[in-house]
Amino acid sequence: MALITKAIKGTKDALPKDIHKYQYIEATVLDIAEKYGYKEMRTPVFEHTELFQRGVGDTTDVVQKEMYTFDDKGGRSITLRPEGTAGAVRSYLENGLCNETLPQKICYLTSCYRYEKPQAGRLREFHQFGIECFGSQSPLADAEMISLANSIFTTLGVKDLALEINSIGCPTCRAEYHKALKEYFSSRQEDLCDTCKGRLERNPMRILDCKSPVCSEIAAGAPVVLDYLCDDCKEHFEKVQQYLKAMNIDYTINPKIVRGLDYYTKTVFEFVSNSIGAQGTVCGGGRYDGLVEELGGQHTPSLGFGMGLERLMLLMDAQGCDYPAPAVPDLFIVAMGDKATMKAVEIAKDMREEGFSTVYDLNQRSVRAQMKYADKLGAKFNVVIGDNEVESGKAKLKNMASGEEYDIDLNLFVNGFYNISLSDQLADLEINGEEFDFTSLFGVNKEED
Ligand code: ATP
Ligand code: MG
Repeated sequence: MALITKAIKGTKDALPKDIHKYQYIEATVLDIAEKYGYKEMRTPVFEHTELFQRGVGDTTDVVQKEMYTFDDKGGRSITLRPEGTAGAVRSYLENGLCNETLPQKICYLTSCYRYEKPQAGRLREFHQFGIECFGSQSPLADAEMISLANSIFTTLGVKDLALEINSIGCPTCRAEYHKALKEYFSSRQEDLCDTCKGRLERNPMRILDCKSPVCSEIAAGAPVVLDYLCDDCKEHFEKVQQYLKAMNIDYTINPKIVRGLDYYTKTVFEFVSNSIGAQGTVCGGGRYDGLVEELGGQHTPSLGFGMGLERLMLLMDAQGCDYPAPAVPDLFIVAMGDKATMKAVEIAKDMREEGFSTVYDLNQRSVRAQMKYADKLGAKFNVVIGDNEVESGKAKLKNMASGEEYDIDLNLFVNGFYNISLSDQLADLEINGEEFDFTSLFGVNKEED
């Protein structure tokens, strides 16, 4: 295939036939975030490269290997955002949100870019729903954030997701832990991959996150961070767990979770599934008490998570979760001839203004072809208009699913449509076990076959 008709490797189009799924997920996550007091923020797709180097941390895989970085024509080094947190912190500081009442709770739906090996659940352009809570050190914030992610999965009907939590401590207790890790890994230094050899000095915890089989085998016997927590971090972690229990949220402690960012502190968590293969982490997040300060703000205990929307959809599809049905036109107008077409244009305008989706054939094909088209679109009702109908001002509105027909006045179309479609919806209702004749209520004349 010619290059120009082939999408970039690791990218994916969202097609009209699937768009209702995306829209449903997006509306659901934003709605739940709002219920927890989060407000949406939108930041640019690119930022200064340095923001991510500092914000994500230059010993991470993301910064070392995965960023889309280039010089723009003005010679600035620019990077397509590989994640949402750094840009959100930048905006929080730049726009003075840091001077408002804390905590500031923000959320976003964004595309992210990482140069990774494309495979199931791993793309080069992917999408995240993320939330960030700036300015709370309370374990209440950690538990509430986990609960928010959990609500999303429950609402979407996703099952069998395991919540794994860990605490990776604060700089105080981590110093001890780093020492222990260095000691442990030094004894096996020869066997570590080249990247991890470099990590040994600067950030030995990163080795725990390495995906090379040899490194992960060595990491399996490494000292566990939970054994090195200071009293403060221990108590924080205890409290988070108590709140989770109070909210009836199941979890397991997985001391191996260290997460990909350098500035994570204390609580880290992941929601993991084994229904979608190797890339099973659908949501990951945690506390990053040092990040805002690292990016030039005041010390601001904060936390956040990122949820991969493609992985979430893979999971929903794998589990056969329900989506609401895609939207279909309320009305298809079949028009024959110029006068009828003019009437169709008028009626469609009125209908759309009243909130009914209405379609007619822009290509003015034969009646048969128009009918087929209406069928294909799945329109709920159709009306056929020809010269006779225009003249008499009367036509038949047909429920395409039941075949039932109703008289409708072309000159009071919207009113008629409203009454008929409403009584049609209510027709199947029973009151005290009796079918109720709503058509009498709305003065609709229903044709009996
Ligand atoms: P992984 O270990 O799978 O590489 P990560 O730790 O790099 O994940 P985060 O930076 O925490 O991922 O991003 C949050 C979420 O974004 C992940 O849990 C995942 O659902 C999703 N995600 C990350 N990278 C990709 C990708 N390349 N393609 C699709 N989704 C991704
Ligand atoms: Mg990754």
